Amino acid sequence: MIDFHCHLDLYPNALELLPEVERRNRFTFAVTTSPRAFLATSRVFAPYRHIHVGLGLHPEVAQAKAGELDQLVALVRQATLVGEIGLDGTARFRHTLSLQRKIFSAVVAECAAQGGRVMSIHSRGAEAEVLATLALHPNAGTPVLHWFSGSQRDLSKAVELGAWFSVGPAMLRASSGRQIASQLSPERVLPETDGPFALHQGRPLMPWDASEVCGTLGGLWGLPEETVREQMVTNLQTLVPTLA
Ligand code: MN
Repeated sequence: MIDFHCHLDLYPNALELLPEVERRNRFTFAVTTSPRAFLATSRVFAPYRHIHVGLGLHPEVAQAKAGELDQLVALVRQATLVGEIGLDGTARFRHTLSLQRKIFSAVVAECAAQGGRVMSIHSRGAEAEVLATLALHPNAGTPVLHWFSGSQRDLSKAVELGAWFSVGPAMLRASSGRQIASQLSPERVLPETDGPFALHQGRPLMPWDASEVCGTLGGLWGLPEETVREQMVTNLQTLVPTLA
């Protein structure tokens, strides 16, 4: 299967997991939360050809990692995939929004300067602003909105911008998540887990659990699970033809 957004480096036993992830998933997008983590993770994960590491600076750690902003921008050139980046406007992180904005705008602008990147994007509580920033940089590449939870209006705007969406089992457990997913075009969706942060029955979702979404999405879209599964592979090949 495909997991287009997980924090593979943050599982307690990440190193032991790698061979099984490599075997069970045809593609795992291992997002990182800081440029230094990107460099270290890229070295360790290099032997695994089905695991792809993204360059990120997570908005929740904007304050702690702001000193790595120059490194983030400098590394875009060598990064095929970018993520996790974005903005978080929820109560817990709102106080760092000005710093988050500076970081997000800088990395999106650099993606545009480097000819565009596939970007896995966090937008919780700041959906409209994330989309406004992306709209300012139309050559930044393809945004993949991870676990999107914006309003109907935000969703329309995102689709208008050409955004893709990654959808996981945890998102689809909530009726609000299913409501959003039901409206997505099957050609613009990829599975994700957001593990180990996203849980199932109190345990972290594993990268291969992303495949669970195919049945639920099939129900929402009126398609057989197998058709959805095939569509996800087609989508992957469309979005990242050189990696899939
Ligand atoms: Mn995440």
